[in-house]
Amino acid sequence: TEEYIRRSEKLSAVGQLAAGVAHEIRNPLTVISGFLQLMQQREQNTNNHVPVMLSELARINKIISEFLLLAKPGVQKFENVKICYLIREVVTLLDTSAIMKSISITSEFSIDDTTVECDPDQIKQVLINLLKNSIEAMDDGGQIHIHVYEKDNMIYIQIKDTGNGIPQEVLERIGEPFFTTKPKGTGLGLMICDRIIEHHHGKMDISSVQGKGTTVTIYLNKVISEQEGKNEYTSSEYYRES
Ligand code: ADP
Ligand code: MG
Repeated sequence: TEEYIRRSEKLSAVGQLAAGVAHEIRNPLTVISGFLQLMQQREQNTNNHVPVMLSELARINKIISEFLLLAKPGVQKFENVKICYLIREVVTLLDTSAIMKSISITSEFSIDDTTVECDPDQIKQVLINLLKNSIEAMDDGGQIHIHVYEKDNMIYIQIKDTGNGIPQEVLERIGEPFFTTKPKGTGLGLMICDRIIEHHHGKMDISSVQGKGTTVTIYLNKVISEQEGKNEYTSSEYYRES
């Protein structure tokens, strides 16, 4: 088993991040402007370049959308959220794409009805990013098991997949901005997770066995007392505690 404790120093590499953004956005832009220049020079045979240009544009769009999530101000709306509802919501959201790949998502709650003080939208974002990674790690179907339990006044959310696992050299690099092993990846997902969890004063661990699967565990405090940004919230969304 390869263990990896997430290091927060990667998050403070703002300079590296800015350079990365410029680099990542410049690549697809160079491709597009190259084709456009070609189009200008000779009009024939330009049609098969259009799909390439469109996919490069889609890539820019994806990078920017994910990047904007990172750039969002760190002020949260902390509220008491029933964690099982949150998880069910996210599973419902991703179930179709899982089923299409013959992946089953199961969840197990050792504690029913427990509330966690968190920003529900941000924690949803974390869960979506993690589940997407699990789905993307399985080519021939498999299982994702979500286990929620409580220990020492902390809530543990464990996401375990039977995917292809993460080799040591990749494990060391994940969480670095733009580090991805996927042709269409952005390498921002886990960084966003890290950041959100850090804002919640929680932790995230990843352990993986190559060829067998990956387990990501999130630890959240049940109560974040005297927390900046904490406020009363009176939304009527059903999972919020009344
Ligand atoms: P992206 O998904 O865009 O590549 P992430 O930050 O979400 O960016 O993940 C970074 C890398 O970590 C992935 O490219 C992949 O190599 C690895 N990874 C993350 N989660 C898993 C997982 N559950 N199983 C296998 N590899 C994973
Ligand atoms: Mg991802």
